[in-house]
Amino acid sequence: MNDEENICLACGICCDGTLIGFVEVEAAEFSRLKGVLEVEESDQIGFFLHPCEKFCEKCTIYDQRPKQCGLFECKVLKSYEKGEMDFKSATTIIESVIEKKIGIQNKLRALDLKLKSGSFCFKMMEVKNLFAAENTKIVRKEMHKELMFDIEELNGLVMKYFGVSYF
Ligand code: SF4
Ligand code: SF4
Repeated sequence: MNDEENICLACGICCDGTLIGFVEVEAAEFSRLKGVLEVEESDQIGFFLHPCEKFCEKCTIYDQRPKQCGLFECKVLKSYEKGEMDFKSATTIIESVIEKKIGIQNKLRALDLKLKSGSFCFKMMEVKNLFAAENTKIVRKEMHKELMFDIEELNGLVMKYFGVSYF
């Protein structure tokens, strides 16, 4: 597959925190990844959080990336590789996720919510929990409702096409 046909090169949303919040690293890979990637180690398991520090429009350590990164194949990629989806359809789905994500980020900024999560996908769960807790104390504002609608809509999209869920 050449670069023009590689949808992952036009995507990267499984590295930048849009879909996934962390990657697990096997203990057997700890020494190989030393100096390549910052991995939190605990007993026999390691992980690193997204957005991945090695993602800069594409993976900058592609040949050395952890095993788990190479194993992840979203539904869009699988359909594309099987010939069930063409390049244009695949990139259109990816673009629609990115567009919805930007819309949600704009709403989050406008609401000035104090969120602790680093990655976009963990923020989605955090917002849902925050609003659920606040709902018992205050009447939800219209913008909160709109934001939750957008988050639920995006969650439906990523479940359908990428096989992941925020909640
Ligand atoms: S595996 Fe899927 S989500 Fe990840 S970069 Fe490729 S197309 Fe995008
Ligand atoms: S190491 Fe590369 S493939 Fe793995 S999450 Fe980071 S940028 Fe993505």
